[in-house]
Amino acid sequence: MNTITGKGASGGIAIGRLKELGKEKRVIKKGKAEDAKAELRRFEAARETASCELREIYEKAVREVGKENAAIFEGQRMMLCDVDYLDFVWNMIEEKSVNAEYAVALARDDFAAMLAKLSDPYMKERAADVRDVSERLLRILAQGEGKEGEEIEKDKDLEAPYIILADDLTPSDTMQLNRNRVLALISRKGSINSHTSVLARTMNIPSLVCAPLKKELDGRLAIVDGDSGTVILEPDEETLHLYQNRMKEEEKRKKRLLCLKGRQTVTEGGKQIRLYANISAAEDVTAVLENDAEGIGLFRSEFFYLQGSDFPTEQEQFYVYKALAEKMEGKKVVIRTLDIGADKQPPYFHLKKEKNPALGCRAIRICLKRPEILKTQLRAIYQASAYGNLAVLVPMIVSLWEVKRVKELIEEVQSELLHEAVPFGKVELGLMIETPAAVMIADELASEVDFFSIGTNDLTQYTLAIDRQNESLDLFYDSHHPAVLRMIQRVIDSAHKAGIPVGICGELAADASLTNLFLKMGIDELSVSPAMVLSIRDKIVSRQKESEEKH
Ligand code: PEP
Ligand code: MG
Repeated sequence: MNTITGKGASGGIAIGRLKELGKEKRVIKKGKAEDAKAELRRFEAARETASCELREIYEKAVREVGKENAAIFEGQRMMLCDVDYLDFVWNMIEEKSVNAEYAVALARDDFAAMLAKLSDPYMKERAADVRDVSERLLRILAQGEGKEGEEIEKDKDLEAPYIILADDLTPSDTMQLNRNRVLALISRKGSINSHTSVLARTMNIPSLVCAPLKKELDGRLAIVDGDSGTVILEPDEETLHLYQNRMKEEEKRKKRLLCLKGRQTVTEGGKQIRLYANISAAEDVTAVLENDAEGIGLFRSEFFYLQGSDFPTEQEQFYVYKALAEKMEGKKVVIRTLDIGADKQPPYFHLKKEKNPALGCRAIRICLKRPEILKTQLRAIYQASAYGNLAVLVPMIVSLWEVKRVKELIEEVQSELLHEAVPFGKVELGLMIETPAAVMIADELASEVDFFSIGTNDLTQYTLAIDRQNESLDLFYDSHHPAVLRMIQRVIDSAHKAGIPVGICGELAADASLTNLFLKMGIDELSVSPAMVLSIRDKIVSRQKESEEKH
């Protein structure tokens, strides 16, 4: 047994086997199949082997984790018989005379991108399965006949849901993971304030960064404790038992909180707080509803762009926003416009490499330089607004003219839709207050929009002049810094003076040690990861209960 200390980036405990996430992607070379028939036979043999493997894995998983959790492997086996997928591969080999590896890699990218763009959360998740199945085929093809036996044995232990171990994880790496199969995330580098860590918290997956784990730990049993920031390798029976009990206690705590579902979030002074949830993907809406959030306070829409290999079209975006609006049944859904740049780099954007990305071309700056991208998104949001209660939130504002320009683009979109006789509803406009400049001119900004949402993650970064990605500065990245707290107060005062509501959607909103302070400051809304909604409601209403008991 060996305990290794890193930094806890997302709380909770996970017990499972480690799986190293290779950074280097398998390089697939395009080759010419001299004999297409022989190449087809090679592919068919690989398909047969993959099917046998998946059958065995399914049976093992049924024994170990139950039928429901094992179903994913049966689903993957069915994918090996998917007519469209097979037609694609067969045609590539037969018609284009390419090697089987190249045909499978193309099918993987094509089908995964197509599924990732669908609005149905279930279908969307199948993108990860297509990648898994294709990778399995590629591995078998690479091994060639006769070599599989030993390798497959080794792999089988890693098929159950696992703990991902990586040197570093980008937000897009994290988005590509098959969520049903990830118990926890550990990275050797990384910062607790990065978007990857924010994602882990939104997904409610225990996570550690800066964990100095050596290589070649694949398959080892480990306990990840996201609260203390430790990993225990090869735990002994006693330790395993201890953590299993802690997991049971946590389950009980969560069950206790369920009695708060359906309760209003009202302070002791009788003020109704809007307790919303942050999401990064359409499928998170399930967790939002399960945890009884009163709305979605922040949909980080850029993660939708990070999942695909090309710009999502207006229609594709429309389906996602419409599905969210409908599923939330009239509750507010705040869609943040694209906040790309810095650590979020979709390759197809071809963003220039910058020396200082945190201070570079990101978010609204990209959208105003390339307004066609923002207009496509706004058109999709406005069309979806006919199906529910949508709002637009603009990130990284520093100047009044930026807001005015966004409003001009919105007006253009509205008049285009009117002209096209496309219905749309009322869409509130909000600003993220996450730069000191926006704080200082909050009074002027407030008169232009319907609401503010304070992004404390970036507000801390820009106020303290600390790159939130730089793990060596975590000691100095203090979001409780008086400068940050005074800025929050200033924004609340400016908003209220102008008669608009203000919320916090940065990670500080879920910091229960500050809830009372925020309520005293006059905050109207807190938007937290779905798993934190009921804890924060508990914090707010138990203050009210305590005070009722006193009187
Ligand atoms: C923030 O900066 O606080 C915020 C909510 O936005 P993000 O973390 O996505 O930059
Ligand atoms: Mg931000």
